[in-house]
Parts: sequence; C-alpha cells; structure tokens
Amino acid sequence: MEIPQNLRERMEQLVQNTIKDFNLTEATSPENAAKRLGLTIHNGKLQKVDGAFDEKTKVILINENITLGQRKRFTLFHEICHYLLRNDDEFFSDLNDIYEDDEEFRKVEERLCDMGAIEFAAPKEQVKALINECGFSITLLLDLEKKFHLSKQSAMWRLAECAPHPCILAICRAEFDIYPLLTLVPKEIKVENAWNSKWTPYKLRKETPIPKDHPIWLTTDSFDDYFSFDDTYIQFFSGHQMEADIEGIWINGRVYILFSL
Ligand SMILES: [Zn+2]
Repeated sequence: MEIPQNLRERMEQLVQNTIKDFNLTEATSPENAAKRLGLTIHNGKLQKVDGAFDEKTKVILINENITLGQRKRFTLFHEICHYLLRNDDEFFSDLNDIYEDDEEFRKVEERLCDMGAIEFAAPKEQVKALINECGFSITLLLDLEKKFHLSKQSAMWRLAECAPHPCILAICRAEFDIYPLLTLVPKEIKVENAWNSKWTPYKLRKETPIPKDHPIWLTTDSFDDYFSFDDTYIQFFSGHQMEADIEGIWINGRVYILFSL
C-alpha cells in the first residue's frame, strides 16, 4: 500500500519533534526513548507478532522470542510510534478522516509506524550527512548496518529513501540446483525486494528474474564481494529495459544491487 508523501513527512516530523522535545540525542536507544515518554517495556509471550502496544496502560509488550538486536530495536521504535501517533490528536483524527475503512486504517498505521521507526533508528538527516561525506554507493549498506544497527533490509530501504538521484535498490536471491555440487552455478537470480528512490517512478517487482545475459551473472563465477558495471541495464518484470549503471555486493547467496538510472 502506497502512503501519501504528506503523511510520511508528517510521521517523520512527529519523530523528529519527539527527539527534540525530549532531548533524545541522536541515535537514541528505544529503551531510553520509551522511558522518557513514560512508557513501560515488558517482555512476554506473543503469538505471530513481534510487539504490541497497550494504549491504556502505556505498556509495550515485546515478543520474548526475538533474539536479534536489530529486530528488537526496530520493533520497540515501531511500538513507540503507535504511542506517538495515537497521542497526536490532530494527526490521528486526520488519519481517521482519510481512511474510514478499519482494515485500511490499520494497514496505514502499521506502515506509518515502520516509517517512524526507521526515522528513530537512522534519522534521515544523519544518513544524508553520511551520503554527502562518502558519496552514494552500495557500500553504504554496510556503513548503515553498522552505524545505525539496521538489518540489511532496512538499510536498503533507508538508502533508497535518502538517495540523491533516480535509482532502484534491490536484494536478489540466487537459486541453486541441488546438483551438480561440483560447480556451484545458480539456476536463477530473482528480485526478493526492491525500493525506488523518490526521483524515479519506476518500480522493480518482487520475483523479477535477472536476465541470463545481464552482467550480474558474470559475478557468480567468484561471488566477489563487490562489483560494478557502467552503461548496462535494468530489466523490469514486463520485460521493459532501461539504461543503468550498477554496483553490487554479494553476501551469503544474496546480491545487494544499486541500479542508477
Ligand atoms: Zn504495529
């Protein structure tokens, strides 16, 4: 579901204001943010979800089965955003006016809380400062992961959002035949997830295959960490192609690619 730009910006603003108003200096921990906001965190048994927020008691319940730090951090920020959103009467009632359907409202609230969570975890201003300092490149994925404790998935999303030019970032998965084991050649490379920067309307759909004559295939010989090709192309699900410069990194059977259009 596509969230209108003005609502995304309002959510980001809400987070930025909270950081300022509560003196939550940059890259705050969610535990600290929750404490300052008067919210309590409990670990508990939850089915199917990572976290939940109870408005009445101001308690964030976090699934005790989450062991990965990045995921826990993101979930906590996400739940904090539920609180911020519901505590902002004007924003909340505007959303209620726009989305009358309950199911739709719920989905929009979830997406907005994800957007707020990433703004907490890796503030746009800081990511943009890093881009200015280092230049925009796929290698920033590793910097974002380290500096802001993001998952690769979140880091790719964040990079796309802060990209200074038309581009698409994609995570592709190599699929192998079980045999022959002697030569490990993937039989397919497919898009697992992709994000476009705000400078391009083009979207790369999930499950889009990388064509066999695309230079990305040349990199599967060695699964070299880093590669780049200028003046090549991106192919969309429809088969439509566009010129693109590409850069990528192979990590554990997945390739993280930047297509600059
Ligand atoms: Zn939620």
